[in-house]
Amino acid sequence: MNYIANVGLEVHVQLKTRTKIFCGCPTTFGAPPNTHVCPVCLGYPGAMPAMNAEAIRLTVLSGLMLGCQINPASKMDRKNYYYPDMPKNYQISQYDQPLCLGGGIEITLADGSKKKIGLTRIHIEEDVGKNMHFTASSGIDFNRAGTPLMEIVTEPDIASADEAMAFLEALKEILAYGGVSDVNLEEGNLRCDVNSSVRPAGQEKLGTKTELKNMNTFKGVHRALSYEIARQISELEKGGRIRQETRRWDDLAGVTLAMRSKEEAHDYRYFPEPDLLPIVLTQAQVTEWAKALPELPEKRRARMMSDYGIPEYDAGVLSADKALADYFEATATLVKNPKAASNWIMTTVMAKLTELHLTIGEVKITPAQLAKLINLVEAKTINLPTAKEIFELMFAQGGDAGEIVKAKGLAQVSDAGAIEKIVDEAIAANPKVVADYKGGKEASFKFLVGQVMKLSKGKANPALANELLKKKLG
Ligand SMILES: [Zn+2]
Repeated sequence: MNYIANVGLEVHVQLKTRTKIFCGCPTTFGAPPNTHVCPVCLGYPGAMPAMNAEAIRLTVLSGLMLGCQINPASKMDRKNYYYPDMPKNYQISQYDQPLCLGGGIEITLADGSKKKIGLTRIHIEEDVGKNMHFTASSGIDFNRAGTPLMEIVTEPDIASADEAMAFLEALKEILAYGGVSDVNLEEGNLRCDVNSSVRPAGQEKLGTKTELKNMNTFKGVHRALSYEIARQISELEKGGRIRQETRRWDDLAGVTLAMRSKEEAHDYRYFPEPDLLPIVLTQAQVTEWAKALPELPEKRRARMMSDYGIPEYDAGVLSADKALADYFEATATLVKNPKAASNWIMTTVMAKLTELHLTIGEVKITPAQLAKLINLVEAKTINLPTAKEIFELMFAQGGDAGEIVKAKGLAQVSDAGAIEKIVDEAIAANPKVVADYKGGKEASFKFLVGQVMKLSKGKANPALANELLKKKLG
C-alpha cells in the first residue's frame, strides 16, 4: 500500500531586537550565565512587563514577507505551566488572536515543480531560560528568558523530509533578507517542533500525529523526519496503530523515542495577560512599516537575470545571501560586461571566502575596486593571469587596480612595434623550432607563442603576439 505523509512545523525564530520582549535586558549571545537578567525576566512577583514595539514590527514585517494577513487587533495571553527554566510559571504568548494569519511559502521540489506550503499563523512569545547540567550539579541560565520569539506555524502540507528541508531553507533565506532575525542555528535562533502523521493513499482523514520537540538543525529535522515517517508506515503495515505522543530524536542512535503520551499533555489554562494592553495596529502603521520591506529572494533572482543578463544558475548562487547579491549588483552596474562580474564573484571571490572563512562583508576589495579590475581586463589593458595576481594583492591589502598596474608595470603590451621586436627575438633564439613549424609541426607554433609571452614577462597581448608571429613565419 502507498502512504501519504502530512507534516506540519512550528518554527520558533529569535527576533533581532536589541533588548528582550518585556524588559530592557540585552539579547546578546554568550554572556556569562545570569548576567542579562532583571526582576521582569526573572519573574519576581509584582514586576511589570512592557511590550517591546520592535518585536511587533519585526513580526509584522515577517508576516508581510510571508503573505500573511496582519491582524489589526491581537492580544497577549498567559500559557500556564511549570518548568524550572520558566521562573513565572507561565509564559506570555498569544493564543486565539495572533499577530498574523495565513500566508505561505512556495518551495521548489526535486523535479523542478513548485509547491505552496501554507502557514496557519505567526504569533509572538517570550523564550524560556536554559537548564545547564554539570557533572555534580545542575543550574539554570536565565539570560535567554524573555528573548522575543515568533512562532511560525505551518499547515500539514509538507509531504516528506526533503520538503521540510526545502521549506526551512526558503524560510531562513526570507527572514535573513528581511533582517528580522540573525537565523543563526548555532546560537539557537531557529528551532522547530515537527508534527507528522501518515495515512493510506486514498484516505482523506489525516492519521494520528506524533510530535518531535525542539529540533535545532535542519539536518536533524531531515533525519528525524525520514525515520519517523518510515516508523509510522511500518507500524501501520504490521497492523499496529500510532499513539498520539511527543517523541524525542536521539541523534547518536538515529531513532525517535517516545517521551510522553497525549494523556500526560498539559492543559495550559490560557487567559488574557492582564499586565499588557491589547495590540492594536492601524493600516497606516502597517503601510509605514511595509516601506522597509526588501525585495524577496525569488523576485530578486528573476530581476537579476533580466537586469544583468546572467543565467539562472548565477542568479541562484549570487542571491542566496543578500549581502553577496548587493555586492554583485554594486559591481555589475560599474562594468561593461555584467557576466564577467558574475564570473569573478562566483569563482575567484567566493573561493577566497571559503578558503579564509570570511563573509562578503569582511572583504577589503570594494565593488568599485573590483569593477575597475574587471574593466582593465575587458579593455585588454591587462590579461587574465595578471588580473588574478593583482586580485591577490588587492584581497590582502585593498587598493586600486589601476595604480597597482602602474606601480608594478603590469600593463599589457599592445604596441605592435614592441611586440614585433620580441617576436623577432623569439624566432632568432629558436631556429630549430621555427624549422619544425615550417616543416608542418603545428605544436611548435604554440611553443613560440609561449616564448614571446615569457620574454614579455606575461605582459604581451596574446592575440597580437599570435597574429604577428603568424605573419613573420609566413
Ligand atoms: Zn530583564
